[in-house]
Amino acid sequence: MECMMDELIYMDHAGTTKLDPRVLDAMMPYLTQAFGNASQLYALGAQAKQAVEKAREQVAALIGAKPSEIFFTSGGTESDNWALSGVAHSSEQRGNQIITSQIEHEAVLKSAKSLEKHGFRVTYVPVDEHGLVDPGDVRKALTDQTVLVSIMHANNEVGTIEPIKEIAKIAKDGGAYVHVDAVQTTGSIPIDVDEIGCDLLSMSAHKFYGPKGVGALYMRRRTKIGTFMNGGGQESGRRAGTHNTPGIVGLGEASRLAQLELGAAQPRITALRDRLTKGIIEKIDGVKYNGHPTERLPNNVNFCLHWAEGEAILLMLDACGICASSGSACTSGSLDPSHVLLAMGIPAEIAHGSLRFTLGKGNTEEEVDFVLEVLPKIVQRIRDMSPTYREHKKSHAAHAAAS
Ligand SMILES: *Cc1c(COP(=O)(O)O)cnc(C)c1O
Repeated sequence: MECMMDELIYMDHAGTTKLDPRVLDAMMPYLTQAFGNASQLYALGAQAKQAVEKAREQVAALIGAKPSEIFFTSGGTESDNWALSGVAHSSEQRGNQIITSQIEHEAVLKSAKSLEKHGFRVTYVPVDEHGLVDPGDVRKALTDQTVLVSIMHANNEVGTIEPIKEIAKIAKDGGAYVHVDAVQTTGSIPIDVDEIGCDLLSMSAHKFYGPKGVGALYMRRRTKIGTFMNGGGQESGRRAGTHNTPGIVGLGEASRLAQLELGAAQPRITALRDRLTKGIIEKIDGVKYNGHPTERLPNNVNFCLHWAEGEAILLMLDACGICASSGSACTSGSLDPSHVLLAMGIPAEIAHGSLRFTLGKGNTEEEVDFVLEVLPKIVQRIRDMSPTYREHKKSHAAHAAAS
């Protein structure tokens, strides 16, 4: 199939994003001449220290926090692990229950599972067919033993934005700490930790045009949480390890740019999303649109296709220079259907045909139109090879002839 554009079409921004060249520019000095250890007293160290503290202010500004409430980590996974295990273990005297949802990222789900082995009781609240958590379910699950409620801001697979303010209020009224995995929303939609009312929030630089391997955990003042990395006295003694100065500077610059440019990028990306969604529904039959119609990330398009394996579609898209994803990057590669789609009540055989496009600031209308030209042909090709599709077409034709 003749299908290549000159350049790769990248539509997997929920998986990772391309480093913004301006972020690289900001990082470069700290990878080269300004290589000092931020904990050392000589000028070279002080220079790095200053850069780290400037980044802390930039990150704090993006989410309405104080710089002293920002702790640098190695990314979203570490922030999630730290939030769950740190709060759980330092609140053991107070209670042993944790509430989270069935559609969290593996970084939260597996942290919760590991806490279960240490005697914690975890309640996994369900979601509706759109992927929404019902705050009422969180209220029902709360007991006087609940120490932490951890619900994601938006889901990475289907893009559903959770009613996190309501959930946080219920949890706080019940005396629990609130953690929000905001890895998908940071830099994409406005975030204010006071408005949300959370105590902890995870973010990751590489999901919003920063470098990989660096992130932050926001912790509201006076949150009781144990250390996660033991060692030196960095990050007020709460997260040891020599500062990843270039990475942290990159996270800071990505935060600064996001704050400046989010307002203009959001409507543009939303328009591309809607164009792609509309086109897919018009051009391909047997499509099931996944996620919430309105409470949704500006960049997420996710659907299931009858009679077509998601992975087969991905490979053919890749051959056409188009990067998309099936389920989440962590679960694709395994044959299990997505836990998110299953929690939304989608049958396993349909969940296997799921496809996700996540758009970013580099995407254009031309690219969306190109995908809309190529995708229907690919889907048709795969369906033509599927016995169940041929059965379906035969019975459809028989039906039409009979009526
Ligand atoms: C990507 C992602 C993570 C993990 O972040 P890393 O920085 O890649 O470790 C956690 N939660 C969500 C919702 C994500 O999308």
